[in-house]
Amino acid sequence: MRPRFNFMWFWAFVAMLIIGYSMFGSSEQPPVEGDWRMVEELVEKGYVKGIDVLDREQASVYLTEAALDSLAKDDRFKSMPRTGAQIKFNTGGDVQVFTDKIESAEQRAVDNGVDAEPVAIKYQRSEKGWVDYLVDFLPWILIIAVWFFIMRSMTRGAGGGGGGGIMNVGKARAQVFDKDKKQRVTFKDVAGLEEAKVEIMEIVDFLKKADKYKALGAKIPKGALLAGPPGTGKTLLAKAVAGEANVPFLSISGSDFVEMFVGVGASRVRDLFEQAKQKAPCIVFIDEIDAIGRARGKNSGFSGNDERENTLNQLLTEMDGFQTNTGIIVLAATNRVDILDKALMRAGRFDRQIEVGLPDVKEREQIFGVHLRGLKLDAAIDREFLAKQTPGFAGADIANVCNEAALIAARHNKESVTQEDFLAAIDRIVGGLERRNMPMSPEERRSTAIHEAGHATVMWRLKNCDPVLKITIIPRGRSLGATWYLPEERANHNVEHFMHKMAGLLGGRIAEQQLMGITSTGAINDLERTSKTAYAMVAYYGMSPKVGNISFYDASGQRDTFTKPFSERTAELIDEEVRRIVEEAVTLTRDIIEQERANIERLADILIEKETIFTEDIEAVLGASAQQLAKQEAEAAKRAAEAEVKSVEAVVEAVEVAEPTTPAEPTDKE
Ligand code: ADP
Ligand code: ZN
Repeated sequence: MRPRFNFMWFWAFVAMLIIGYSMFGSSEQPPVEGDWRMVEELVEKGYVKGIDVLDREQASVYLTEAALDSLAKDDRFKSMPRTGAQIKFNTGGDVQVFTDKIESAEQRAVDNGVDAEPVAIKYQRSEKGWVDYLVDFLPWILIIAVWFFIMRSMTRGAGGGGGGGIMNVGKARAQVFDKDKKQRVTFKDVAGLEEAKVEIMEIVDFLKKADKYKALGAKIPKGALLAGPPGTGKTLLAKAVAGEANVPFLSISGSDFVEMFVGVGASRVRDLFEQAKQKAPCIVFIDEIDAIGRARGKNSGFSGNDERENTLNQLLTEMDGFQTNTGIIVLAATNRVDILDKALMRAGRFDRQIEVGLPDVKEREQIFGVHLRGLKLDAAIDREFLAKQTPGFAGADIANVCNEAALIAARHNKESVTQEDFLAAIDRIVGGLERRNMPMSPEERRSTAIHEAGHATVMWRLKNCDPVLKITIIPRGRSLGATWYLPEERANHNVEHFMHKMAGLLGGRIAEQQLMGITSTGAINDLERTSKTAYAMVAYYGMSPKVGNISFYDASGQRDTFTKPFSERTAELIDEEVRRIVEEAVTLTRDIIEQERANIERLADILIEKETIFTEDIEAVLGASAQQLAKQEAEAAKRAAEAEVKSVEAVVEAVEVAEPTTPAEPTDKE
């Protein structure tokens, strides 16, 4: 890149020149200000040697040596310079009047018998120096320069590079991926998302075999909306559609339409569709459509909204405008379907909505598969285990884990990426960087160890808690320690699940209190999650008998936060019930911790020694976990049930053998 010329220095230099010129350009005494009367008087006396007239108006009067001497005592002329012009005056601008006046004054001098040379008159026209021009134009230059810089930084900021410049504000800066490009994305690159793929395959089919549909008179849909959390592969899916259909792909982000200038958004939309028509058949992809597609008329009151409404209206007009057979399909992505303007979803616009959710275990395993392709791996990578370790991760997070693992392996100069590196990468992404050398006093370490051991022990003893994987007291990010568990991906929760979950969360704080007599700030996150769970139980899931089977949950997200949909009395009832539920969870936790005092102390000692301990270490202290026991019990029950079925079958058989013609009596009577 060429080094950029810094304009600041240029302007600083110019400013210095101007200041210097005005300060040092005329260092002598300035001439005395005069007027016609004074000049006529001087000419009459024969004191004037010559007059220079600049631009017909500004006259500089030069006096004779004799005059300078005799006038030195005159007050009016005291500050007169000896060299250069002595007097300046304004002639009034008329050359004819000027010569007449001077001539008549000279005549009077002759009449009075003064012996003097005639006044030498010179007319001049000013030639402005470049500095004078600069001084005249400087304000304008400055204004234009400032404006230019603001424009430039503004368009650059919004456009993300390329094609900037003030002349192009109205142009849509869509990224174009042409079909013959090498890095074509296909469905092979998109793991999981099976339902979304099926739905979107239809769209590929519309583009590929448009004639088939047209022959039957079917209208091809114009657009589809991909809805889901960030990083779940919406962009990837849209690119894959273009890749599969082998058509160009125009991608633009909703925020690219939002500019500070009025009308720019609308004109960019127009331009985008202009480009698309030239490339048809093609796919237009608008990311973050909520930036422009937010419901109109809500929260208006900020002037910026008008501009967004214009942009949205233009988008609606464009989508209505093109015929269904032009071969343009508009895909849009958002993670906030609920706030979109309903007009966008009307038939003939984004009439299909495709859900792109967070991946489940199986899908995460497949996504790992996609992203492990490019890495040099150690043979022993267990994808299934990695998928289990990453609940709640979106595809983008998994891509990030894979890259981070490779970075960690490289930092340790390894030949290939190992399972260990992946686990370190996951830890890092979940918890932030390890801060091994954060100063911690021995007491702090001990209370952290007791806190984490408390969590782990309570979770170990309650069958509806998630299985504990490891405990660590290495500070990471903003936390001092952590208990890691494998969340069971349950779709449905009951009261007992919630109670156990809250007890697990409270385990840390209560262990600190019971074993060390300390109440610390370290439990803020635990308490927050406990309270939220309790509120959700009462106000959302209808799990409090006193409040009843009522839910104040608002799935549409439209309710503003200030008005509560219940009375003061209900609010008090909710608070009361939340308190009761949390108290119950606290009692449950206290009992466990009281019973396990010695074990928690032992776990804490091991933790302080090893810093990180795993399932096996915990099992050595606490024995089998409640989850394991529950599983064994369930298996035993299943076996027993199977055995019973077998024995019933045997009886039936026996009956059939004994009396083949009469059916067996039912055993249970009603
Ligand atoms: P979104 O548009 O939903 O925010 P992207 O499509 O931009 O997410 O995804 C970001 C990155 O995450 C992709 O480039 C890809 O590397 C990875 N990714 C996300 N979902 C998947 C998936 N289902 N399969 C493979 N990679 C994925
Ligand atoms: Zn905690």
